[in-house]
Amino acid sequence: MAKKIIVAGLGHGGIATAAILAESGYDVTVYEMKSEGTLGYDWTDIFDPKALKIAEMDMPDEDKFEYKEDMTFVAPNGFSKLYQHVPEKELEIKMERKDIYDHFIKNAVDKGVKIVYDCEVQKPIMLGNRVVGIRTSNGDFFADLIIDSCGMNSPVRRNLPKSLMIEKEVTRKQKITIFRAFYNKASDVEVDDKFKVLIRPEGVEGISWIASEDEHTDILIGRFEEFDMDEVNRIIENLRPTNPRLGTEIVRGGQFVEIPVRHPLSVMVADGYAAIGDSAFMTVPLIGSGIANSLKAARILAETVINDPAQAFSVETLWKYQVLFYKHLGTGLAPLECVKNLMFKFTPEDLDYCFSSGILTDYNVTMTANFGSFFDVIDFFDVPDLINKAKQSVADPVLLMKMIGAGNRISAATATCLAIPRKWDRKLVEIWAKAYTKIFE
Ligand SMILES: Cc1cc2nc3c(=O)[nH]c(=O)nc-3n(C[C@H](O)[C@H](O)[C@H](O)COP(=O)(O)OP(=O)(O)OC[C@H]3O[C@@H](n4cnc5c(N)ncnc54)[C@H](O)[C@@H]3O)c2cc1C
Repeated sequence: MAKKIIVAGLGHGGIATAAILAESGYDVTVYEMKSEGTLGYDWTDIFDPKALKIAEMDMPDEDKFEYKEDMTFVAPNGFSKLYQHVPEKELEIKMERKDIYDHFIKNAVDKGVKIVYDCEVQKPIMLGNRVVGIRTSNGDFFADLIIDSCGMNSPVRRNLPKSLMIEKEVTRKQKITIFRAFYNKASDVEVDDKFKVLIRPEGVEGISWIASEDEHTDILIGRFEEFDMDEVNRIIENLRPTNPRLGTEIVRGGQFVEIPVRHPLSVMVADGYAAIGDSAFMTVPLIGSGIANSLKAARILAETVINDPAQAFSVETLWKYQVLFYKHLGTGLAPLECVKNLMFKFTPEDLDYCFSSGILTDYNVTMTANFGSFFDVIDFFDVPDLINKAKQSVADPVLLMKMIGAGNRISAATATCLAIPRKWDRKLVEIWAKAYTKIFE
């Protein structure tokens, strides 16, 4: 009889894993709290299309996506700028979130995945230290493996017993609150920088972007604290004089949401359990993109499951998924949290100086477009180069110390990720997870 697999939540990584496993003969069911046809948000997302092939998915139809344009990064002072020049073969695609979901769901259903909508997952069901099922609004369901794809606040992960050593909570600085909306077009005035990313605008801890599209202006405001519509309206008013196309009416979106921007989970597997996507914090900590990483992780997880000789899905065999995830993705992602944290340590004046003095360059912001591999990241955040840049360009010793401190933490994060225990040994993993987590405290 086919082994039974439950995917809790219809996240991108979960549905992609489900499709590969169903095609390989597993009996896979996804439980999703939203209703059919209502998934996603009313806006577009950007991701690396190469990840689709890795997750054994076709490219979407050509009328469903366009290639993303280069972005202009603006310093807190509002006038120092850096320009992306992403090579054609590295271009990401932009797609409506709803179309992304339709594409992923069709692929999964065609391969035999069953989806139960309107079903809220409440918590895991445990038998000793093994996850054996999920409690839901529709009753209890049991399986040989539970894949947790419920996102950042997954009730499965958050209700696991402490003995499994899986982190439950995200601190305030490890998630970014986003307001995203499309505003109507107020005029046809041509703008110089169509797609601007404002770093620490008005000196606050966060970013904003303003994309002057043909039919609307796409606004994203991200902060490491709560904010409300009064604050959004104030920011929009301040943006309007320099962005004459920005209208007053919200035509799409207009919601507040959260994205994890932190290192991936220190332990993402247990007997009968594996987390993927935002449940395991697989986003790029600097920019919050998580779709491509979820797809790449899906392939790794599915292959680990298929190649499990005993098909027992014990923590020992699932640990291989985590080791491979860190080898291919995690080792590149985790150090980026140290870079993100450096933004908190920098004053807006420090950042202005980085833009104008050559510490940050067009090449650096081009690389942020697509962290495809561990080596891209190491190339970008090459520590000796970072220290060299700092020594050459920084006249301010306080700024220099901040950069050297970050360089040390980046090195420590990279070295710790590379030292992940190759085999599951509870004691060793516990020591490793503590050392890894400490780097980001
Ligand atoms: C505003 C915004 C913009 C973003 N832009 C981009 C972008 O441009 N590019 C990019 O790569 N990434 C982007 N991301 C991040 C990206 O959405 C995620 O990293 C990626 O989708 C992986 O998350 P996930 O699918 O694992 O989790 P989620 O997207 O959180 O999906 C979790 C799923 O589980 C379901 N669920 C949750 N709780 C329960 C429950 N209790 N019971 C049943 N079902 C449940 C949810 O309804 C949802 O369907 C953005 C995120 C946000 C919020």
